[in-house]
Amino acid sequence: MHPSLLTDNDKAELRTICGKRVQFDQPLAPFTSWKIGGPADAWIVCEDEAQVAELMRFCLRRRLPWFVLGSGSNLLIGDGGIRGLVLRLTGDFLSIEVRTLNGEVIIEAGASASMAMMTAKGASQGALGIDSLVGIPGTVGGSLRMNAGTDREIGEFVRSVWVQSPSKPQPAAVTVQYYYRHTSLARDAIVSRVTLAFERGDPKTVREQAQRRLVRRKETQPIALPNAGSCFRNPPGDKAARLIEAVGAKGWREGGAEISPLHANFINNLGDARAVDVATLLSRVRRAVAERFEIEMELEVHLVGVFVAEHEQ
Ligand SMILES: Cc1cc2nc3c(=O)[nH]c(=O)nc-3n(C[C@H](O)[C@H](O)[C@H](O)COP(=O)(O)OP(=O)(O)OC[C@H]3O[C@@H](n4cnc5c(N)ncnc54)[C@H](O)[C@@H]3O)c2cc1C
Repeated sequence: MHPSLLTDNDKAELRTICGKRVQFDQPLAPFTSWKIGGPADAWIVCEDEAQVAELMRFCLRRRLPWFVLGSGSNLLIGDGGIRGLVLRLTGDFLSIEVRTLNGEVIIEAGASASMAMMTAKGASQGALGIDSLVGIPGTVGGSLRMNAGTDREIGEFVRSVWVQSPSKPQPAAVTVQYYYRHTSLARDAIVSRVTLAFERGDPKTVREQAQRRLVRRKETQPIALPNAGSCFRNPPGDKAARLIEAVGAKGWREGGAEISPLHANFINNLGDARAVDVATLLSRVRRAVAERFEIEMELEVHLVGVFVAEHEQ
């Protein structure tokens, strides 16, 4: 058992601040693409920036940790769950506005806007390069944090980013550096909105490019079973999937988790996988690649929360 960090006073104050928007001991598995993860001490739905600001002040005052969940498509949440507050952005944060201006397509998106919706709207206005972002099953905020992409990444198209944090609860514009699958965004920053800018091309051609990307994904990635996309980042000059396949790991199993026989860098949940199963497979694979190739692969998926062995649960 991993007791909640929240005192009765914390819970009472959260009920006053959030009303029905807060739930205690909420299992998180349904909110991740892996369908894995224990409970959040408090699960809180935020509909606008004012609600986020109020919770940031609460966390600062009570010295409580918090975590922001996007669509959970890059997360392994421990079976022991997440202590403190877990925030889910909805309402205003789902907004997407697209306009064309001086040969550009400008997209203003709330942090929880889906990448699928954002790319579809952008492609229909001829946003050149947006096909690189098609088929990524995350939110705009999570994708910004990850600098998600394929041959081109979201950071390349960012014009502005607004964030909120306990020390600065009101949204403030920040400058972000973008790297391969990570950014300089402060750990305690919640992205609240983003402006992206694309050169404008022919909408019909861009829509067709986007469609081809989707078809290719369906052919090369497992889509029937819960997973979190690529688990490891590609090491410089190589592909994680190639290395994992080369050590013969395709099809390795641990509990209810399996290295995908279709794409070696994906781990599937066969139905009843626990975080500890996936974590065990991740370390087996990493060790095998290090022994054979002397390459230390880095995780792309974020591990969060409390990881516990079965006998401790
Ligand atoms: C089938 C499949 C295919 C995928 N293909 C790709 C791909 O081609 N390219 C690629 O790059 N990724 C890919 N991914 C991984 C994943 O979709 C991306 O990393 C995505 O951008 C994560 O967004 P999310 O909203 O799900 O973030 P989450 O998984 O919810 O969170 C990821 C991290 O971002 C943080 N975060 C979330 N929202 C915010 C916010 N508003 N402000 C600050 N931090 C935030 C979280 O705290 C966490 O640390 C794939 C995943 C799957 C399941």
